[in-house]
Amino acid sequence: MKYVRVNKIINFSNVDGPGNRMSIFFQGCNYNCLYCHNPETISKCNSCRICVDICPVKALSIVKSKVVWNKKKCINCDRCIGICKNNSSPKTLDYSVEELLKEIKKVKRFIRGITVSGGEATLNYEFITQLFKEVKKLGLTTFVDTNGSLDLRDEIYNEFIYVTDKFMVDMKVWDEKAHNNLTGYGNVEVIKNIEFLGNLGKLYEVRTVVIPNLLDNVETVTKVSEIVGKINLKNQLNEGIIYKLIKYRQIGVRKEILERELSKSISPGEKQMEELSKIVRGNKVEKVIII
Ligand code: SF4
Ligand code: SF4
Repeated sequence: MKYVRVNKIINFSNVDGPGNRMSIFFQGCNYNCLYCHNPETISKCNSCRICVDICPVKALSIVKSKVVWNKKKCINCDRCIGICKNNSSPKTLDYSVEELLKEIKKVKRFIRGITVSGGEATLNYEFITQLFKEVKKLGLTTFVDTNGSLDLRDEIYNEFIYVTDKFMVDMKVWDEKAHNNLTGYGNVEVIKNIEFLGNLGKLYEVRTVVIPNLLDNVETVTKVSEIVGKINLKNQLNEGIIYKLIKYRQIGVRKEILERELSKSISPGEKQMEELSKIVRGNKVEKVIII
């Protein structure tokens, strides 16, 4: 894979792993989560052209039947994203490994590492493997933020896992049917990946978005922290795995889904988050972060 489509690069982030990190968000995801707060990263642009004429500064044009974005002209009004019916954005760019490395080198002395995210980063695992090999030569750490949907135990991922220092895995909901309803996919691989990566010492963090009136958050947090707690106990010499509990927020969620599926779902209160965090600590997971 010579090029990947990138939705966004954040040069300095302190919420995507330890220390100051460059975060690279790839375009394209295999899930379609109801509560996704950046749904414009789900699909690749199909150049339907609907957004082109809406741009007030003519930053979008058609070149050889493809919609092309002019970053310099763009004023980031996001009207194009608002009108897109394809869960996509024309504000994406293709990068090669060499081109991304050039960006990384510009900020190298200010960051501890690189985190790749999405969309779903692992869909580009071959590209990331090549990128991370080079990133390691720069002395930076390599992290992957993933929905855990690919079976990472398959040997085709060996090299990818080898060059990745740590993974951060989303565990959205324990109940398989509810997971399917939320994302469009089952969760068997996600649970297996948490165990597999945890036992390899490659799991940095597990995250759950807490969304009252839609998911059984207590069940998810209890079951997952039991697994993580056991791994922490077994890998006593390793740093403990973090459990991050994320409050659901409506910001960015698609309006039609808010009205149709999530009308009863509100952001959880402090008390509810504290109760969940107690469950996690009770299962011997000491590092709990609530955001
Ligand atoms: S971003 Fe969306 S609306 Fe614009 S061309 Fe691509 S698919 Fe069509
Ligand atoms: S975000 Fe940029 S490309 Fe999109 S409509 Fe606004 S100015 Fe045009």
